Amino acid sequence: QSDFISENKGRFRDYYSIGTALGTGAFGEVRKCSNRKTGAIRAVKIIRKDSLDAKEKARFFQEIEILRQLDHPNIVRLYEVFQDDKRYYLVTELCTGGELFDEITNRTYFSEDLKPENILMDTKQNNAIKVIDFGTSQKFDPNKKMNQIFGTAYYIAPEVLKGEYNEKCDLWSIGVILYILLSGKPPFDGNDDKEIVNSVRIGTYSMSGPEWKSITPEAKDLIKKMLTYDITGRITAEQAINHPWIKKKVLEPSDPK
Ligand code: ADP
Ligand code: MG
Repeated sequence: QSDFISENKGRFRDYYSIGTALGTGAFGEVRKCSNRKTGAIRAVKIIRKDSLDAKEKARFFQEIEILRQLDHPNIVRLYEVFQDDKRYYLVTELCTGGELFDEITNRTYFSEDLKPENILMDTKQNNAIKVIDFGTSQKFDPNKKMNQIFGTAYYIAPEVLKGEYNEKCDLWSIGVILYILLSGKPPFDGNDDKEIVNSVRIGTYSMSGPEWKSITPEAKDLIKKMLTYDITGRITAEQAINHPWIKKKVLEPSDPK
């Protein structure tokens, strides 16, 4: 990416003026900022150096490395990185639509006929989905076994809890997200993280509640294939994008406005 500058180009504050808070993460805060020269409005993730231990620092550098290599309309764009004695500053594309999480809470759930193309065509871009957080990601390597146990209780795959897993764990997590999007409820639940994780470990879930009545068999089939406990039987990413429910969505003509 041509406008990514990794060299020491100076102090963040000389290039950007800082604005209001957008959110807080595990290691720091995310704020609005604007480029003093171009006026471009961006987001900046500010991380205090003394808040990271060696492992966390390595993971943070990995997040930067991964974001630098990605160029996709649904992945947040990393523009530049600054540092001073105390902090790192990651300047990224600003997403103004808020968290999908809050959107689900507001709407209760998304109906299936909310078509992906309508979401993406919104000129305000509010509904375009962007993945922002690559703090626990790894570059895909078919020969590398993954064993670090991290994730969020609701979305973590059962094999990740056991400490030996591969890229199939993402299909499980996407299955959980899809389940929540369509029903408004998590498939594996509990009163605290321990209970939620236990429910994931058991791995049984239901699609028999009233909220599932109006959901198509194709959508349920895809969820079932993603939330398959045994990873050899679980759907692959390639199979998932070719699944009838996804295919149908992509091929459907968009509604006239
Ligand atoms: P962490 O890795 O610590 O979880 P995130 O990158 O997920 O940090 O950022 C924390 C929160 O800040 C997000 O959940 C979101 O609410 C907000 N945020 C992060 N990046 C952006 C962005 N580019 N635009 C708008 N809000 C953002
Ligand atoms: Mg996060």
